[in-house]
Amino acid sequence: MLKVKNTLTAKKEPFKPIEKGKIRMYVCGPTVYGPGHIGHARTYIAFDIIRRYLEYRKFRVKYVVNITDVHDDMIKTANELGISIFELGKKYSEEFFKEMKILKVKQADVYPRVTEEIDEIIKLIEKLVQKKLAYETDDGVYFKVEKFSDYGKLSGIKIEKGKTGTRIQTDKYEKNNVQDFVLWKKAKPNEPAWDSPWGKGRPGWHIECSAMNFHHLGEQIDIHCGAEDLSFPHHENEIAQSEGVTGKQFVKYWMHSGFLNVNEKKMSKSLGNFITIPELLKTTDPRVFRFFVSGLHYRSPVNFSAKQIKKSEKTLKKLDSFLKRLTEIKKTGSENKKVNVLIENAKKGFEKEMDDDFNLPNAWAYLFELERETNKMEQEKGLTKKDALNVLNFFKKINSFLDIFQFEFKEQKLSQEEMKLIKKRENLRKEKKWDEADNIRKLLAKKGILLDDTQKGTKWRKEA
Ligand code: AMP
Ligand code: ZN
Repeated sequence: MLKVKNTLTAKKEPFKPIEKGKIRMYVCGPTVYGPGHIGHARTYIAFDIIRRYLEYRKFRVKYVVNITDVHDDMIKTANELGISIFELGKKYSEEFFKEMKILKVKQADVYPRVTEEIDEIIKLIEKLVQKKLAYETDDGVYFKVEKFSDYGKLSGIKIEKGKTGTRIQTDKYEKNNVQDFVLWKKAKPNEPAWDSPWGKGRPGWHIECSAMNFHHLGEQIDIHCGAEDLSFPHHENEIAQSEGVTGKQFVKYWMHSGFLNVNEKKMSKSLGNFITIPELLKTTDPRVFRFFVSGLHYRSPVNFSAKQIKKSEKTLKKLDSFLKRLTEIKKTGSENKKVNVLIENAKKGFEKEMDDDFNLPNAWAYLFELERETNKMEQEKGLTKKDALNVLNFFKKINSFLDIFQFEFKEQKLSQEEMKLIKKRENLRKEKKWDEADNIRKLLAKKGILLDDTQKGTKWRKEA
């Protein structure tokens, strides 16, 4: 029986979707004003594995990830770059899709964008106004928090004075109450704006997720995800907006992933510990990062450090060579029942742990045990090709959601020409000719050759 920890009740609950066999799942998506960062990568990989495990468990999952392309950060960055938010959003949403593809995150069924959902958003705000849950002021439309008696039920945070409940400082707005949050912002000069019953303006942040959920999944959904930073105020506000309109429970299970910090500190450009996904990929094999994330419980906070990644790299290499050895076994003969028992035990143990709120760290232990025991049998008696295939097939099944292992092994050899280029690049780096050196790196990357500059010189490897 699958159990899921629900942030709403703070309990592990038996998982029962609203409609048998079908899951409506929503993850709060990125604000597309720059490249994705490794915190995004952590959250989207964690929920990707969960989504795909649910599919492995034979649920039909509809998976929606929104793209926030109207936002204060978008407007600020677009103005700085002298482009429109539409251009900015197009560029970075495309980059986001590419980054996710490299990290093997399966595409969502729908990626709704705020710029394409304005009508839905306005309809929802109108309903809130009609129900007197929202009111208009000189500069916008606000949600009246005191009218929603369940406010605070997700985060446990009760309304206090001084909490504004939005991402940005809103003190200057003329709201009736400090905790009320903005649904619609009336247009200011140099800001993108759309027509609405309240004049030209743009949506606030929280309302988009309620509107997109209603539009693409319905008024009641099974699973809503995001990292824990969003539980207050964003998800609390989503509940207030959605349940305020329908009077029905909005989300059955709230799942929050742990926040990723770098070297024990919150990532920030000023601290110099902000790592984008393209930066990560310069030095780290995407499989290694996915493996690193899969070794953590989705709810655990993550501390990212070079040391951790090195450790993951080493372990994954061992697993790679284990699988490679299995593919090379040629011995004929029948299968060994003991191997099948080992596989069956690993499968049962793995699934039991995954069914217990997706406990990947515990689940991995069963895979490592299978690796150890298979190795032992291979050394003691020698496995047949049939045995090896049985073990490989099990790893392939698990890989339908882990998406970490490789089963075909290219020869790790470079041509003389390629070796020469690496040498040339090393010399260019010594001469501090970074741009030229980087061009060689890019050229080699196109051929699937990845470089890692270490203290002992440049190391290379071929992409799987
Ligand atoms: P944002 O682009 O900040 O709107 O965030 C998009 C998604 O990534 C949300 O689900 C966030 O909760 C999640 N997220 C943002 N920063 C981090 C981080 N440092 N660690 C984990 N998840 C994050
Ligand atoms: Zn959201």
